[in-house]
Amino acid sequence: MKKIPLRTCIVCKEKMPKKQLGRIVINSDGNLEYDRTGKKNGRGAYICMNSQCLSKLNASILSRTFKQQITSEKTEDLKNILYKEMKTM
Ligand SMILES: [Zn+2]
Repeated sequence: MKKIPLRTCIVCKEKMPKKQLGRIVINSDGNLEYDRTGKKNGRGAYICMNSQCLSKLNASILSRTFKQQITSEKTEDLKNILYKEMKTM
């Protein structure tokens, strides 16, 4: 049987099927993007696409995850994108 790929949400640390999570990538300029296709290059992280986890997402979680300083401004930009995406799901 084929194993379902599991990924860990960076906020709640819950292991979930990859398809149920949103992928965030950081590009070489240090900008965060939402990766709708799951195929973008760069270091990736996963988050539950629900308001519970999105509301708890902050700059320190992102900085820890990507091992570099993520400003609160960049965090807010990303959260706005994720909220918009969540509504389309
Ligand atoms: Zn979560």
